[in-house]
Amino acid sequence: MDHFTLRDGALHAEDVALDAIADAVGTPVYVYSNATLRHHVQVMRDAVTGLGVGPDGPLIAFAVKANPNGAVLATLAREGLGADVVSGGEIARAVAAGIPPAKMVFSGVGKTADEMRQALAVGVGQFNLESEAEAEMLSVVAVAEGRTAAVAYRINPDVDAGTHAKISTGRSDNKFGIPYAAAPAAYTRAAALPGLHVQGVAVHIGSQLTDLAPLEAAFDRIGALIATLRGAGHAITTADLGGGLGVPYDRSLPAPPSPADYGVMVARATKGWDTRLIFEPGRVIVGNAGALVATVIRLKDGVDSPFVIVDAAMNDLLRPSLYDAWHDIRATRPNGETAAVNVVGPVCESGDTFATARIMDAVAAGDRVAFMTAGAYAAAMASTYNSRPLTPEVLVDGDRWAVVRAREPIEAMIAREQIPDWLV
Ligand SMILES: *Cc1c(COP(=O)(O)O)cnc(C)c1O
Repeated sequence: MDHFTLRDGALHAEDVALDAIADAVGTPVYVYSNATLRHHVQVMRDAVTGLGVGPDGPLIAFAVKANPNGAVLATLAREGLGADVVSGGEIARAVAAGIPPAKMVFSGVGKTADEMRQALAVGVGQFNLESEAEAEMLSVVAVAEGRTAAVAYRINPDVDAGTHAKISTGRSDNKFGIPYAAAPAAYTRAAALPGLHVQGVAVHIGSQLTDLAPLEAAFDRIGALIATLRGAGHAITTADLGGGLGVPYDRSLPAPPSPADYGVMVARATKGWDTRLIFEPGRVIVGNAGALVATVIRLKDGVDSPFVIVDAAMNDLLRPSLYDAWHDIRATRPNGETAAVNVVGPVCESGDTFATARIMDAVAAGDRVAFMTAGAYAAAMASTYNSRPLTPEVLVDGDRWAVVRAREPIEAMIAREQIPDWLV
């Protein structure tokens, strides 16, 4: 469910016409809907409320990497969400947005000593460790800082999530987590390290999951491991089930499982665990809450279908190029006609292709199009490739809207570089 609808022939985000934003800010521009964000928080919360144990209920820690915009994070902070962070930069952003550090989980295979110090200083709630070497480093850092780090190990359950290879993370040959069979020994060693408080288990098998079966298989393995670890004397009080729920990009395909379906499965899989549960949803919170608005620069003949060349490119929205991802592309003022076209950006790579032989709203030069479901892993992955400034972002709330990241002038990009004095 989202709040992007056609009204009087024009595509709106809530009560604001996308064309009005494009007229004022220029294109390309990302537009987010606050009501959609809040709706998805509510759907997720309804799905998991009452699961697990503990006075505060489950922790829903938004995966900041999906959309780190400060205004998006501030919206989610107001809704009471925590944060799943994977870098010092994300910790700083989450703190700046008002997310309490106690509600933060620090994930990632490559945490540096500096990032560990930063996380300890702000009081991050849990470190999800991904190797024994990382546990040893965190122990040294925590002791030096005079602090105790609450930790979980991320377990690699060796389950194939059945998603795109680049976003599958729970197979034994992926870089993530410690091998399932190595977990008991790793917990015993971590429990003996000073400065660490071993409290939980964690798992995250991949993203854009369209089937709950691999998740449930992973959770079943985690449940068995919790029993084993408790048998060995470890007090396991938290279980972090990661994120991964898919969102509908292509409405002509069967819908992925809903958060409610997911909640029912989690209730079944975690029955009797007697732990506080942590969830790390990213895409399912922000995916449908964003659209990338672009202008058609011109049409050009192609062999089979014409090229629609738009002013957004792979640097603005990388997902089609990186993951062969499919985004619905709509005219902001559809004229009722459709055409089969290739939608491409201006970047000098053949991979700068958004859609091939796509039947979509017919458009002409000067028309605007919206790439839908562009709230997750979209602006977050933008780059300045081809010296294209980072895409601005706008947040809509009812009939009001605000630029929440301005378009950076090219002069500012150039000014950030220095020519060494031997060249001037
Ligand atoms: C990326 C990531 C998430 C979020 O995944 P979504 O598919 O966006 O829900 C959660 N946890 C970890 C550890 C991640 O790396």
